Amino acid sequence: MAMKAACLVCQIIENKIPSKKIYEDEFAMAVLDVNGSNPGHCFVMPKNHYPIIEQVPDAEIGRLFNISNRISSAIFESLGAQGTNIFVANGIPAGQTVAHFTINVIPRRENDGINLQWQPKQLSEEEISTVELKLKEQTKNLGFEKDEKAEAEKPRIHVKKPVALSEEEDEYFSRQMRRVP
Ligand SMILES: [Zn+2]
Repeated sequence: MAMKAACLVCQIIENKIPSKKIYEDEFAMAVLDVNGSNPGHCFVMPKNHYPIIEQVPDAEIGRLFNISNRISSAIFESLGAQGTNIFVANGIPAGQTVAHFTINVIPRRENDGINLQWQPKQLSEEEISTVELKLKEQTKNLGFEKDEKAEAEKPRIHVKKPVALSEEEDEYFSRQMRRVP
């Protein structure tokens, strides 16, 4: 049986991998990405192991984006950034490389060479209408009423030991990572 890879982010949170810690509280941590896109590029992550955003409870998502917003303000104030991108790569086709949800906060300056732009696609009227119908059908009930009860619960602050990726998770990520040139 293959060895299960331990989650890199969980190991950073457990201080098993050294990091440049910018902020920490009972269930979140923000660190500098030392190989980041620009100086000051930070990662904000939940201490609990959630591979993708859909798995993060609402109370924790709210808190994580609050922290990201405040770190963005700190980047403006202390580094003189002219803008920030607050960015999530959710899933491998979206560029996610580690199976632990993180939020990137990226300081931006004019002409800094970071390319988050895309070519606009020309969709036919029919394609747009089809997509609109499908999405509206799916979002008719976003489930907030039901979630309000769960909302009343406090965010989980229990932090587990570094999580070993499940074999499927590990295989999925390592298979996809090999495609990266
Ligand atoms: Zn993890």
